[in-house]
Amino acid sequence: MKIALIAHDGKKADMVGFVRDHLSLFQREDIELIATGTTGTFVEKAGLRVHRMLSGPLGGDAQIATEVAEGRVQAVFFFRDPLDKHPHEPDVAMLMRLCDVHNVPLATNPATARLMFEGLLKD
Ligand code: PGA
Repeated sequence: MKIALIAHDGKKADMVGFVRDHLSLFQREDIELIATGTTGTFVEKAGLRVHRMLSGPLGGDAQIATEVAEGRVQAVFFFRDPLDKHPHEPDVAMLMRLCDVHNVPLATNPATARLMFEGLLKD
């Protein structure tokens, strides 16, 4: 299962906390992680292997959106910061739209992420 991780700057600490709380699950052999560039660096420091795409503002969200559209990503954890502006807002909207188009689970905050992650790994 390929999972994408993205966190806006104001939410990177939440992402690190989420990853640390579920470290052993994220380390399962059947889970492959991709992330936007800076988020990926944080996730690596938390102890996980992750394929880093470009940084979000430079196209990382768009790259992950392509993975979603082509059926290569099974879940997206995207901790958005609703209190900040982002130059790549069109890419953010595109990624979320494509998750809905292709019925790919999308969690945009830690509470949903926790529930979704438990559901994904239930089998
Ligand atoms: P980043 O991108 O992980 O490179 O900071 C995230 C984003 O802003 O979409």
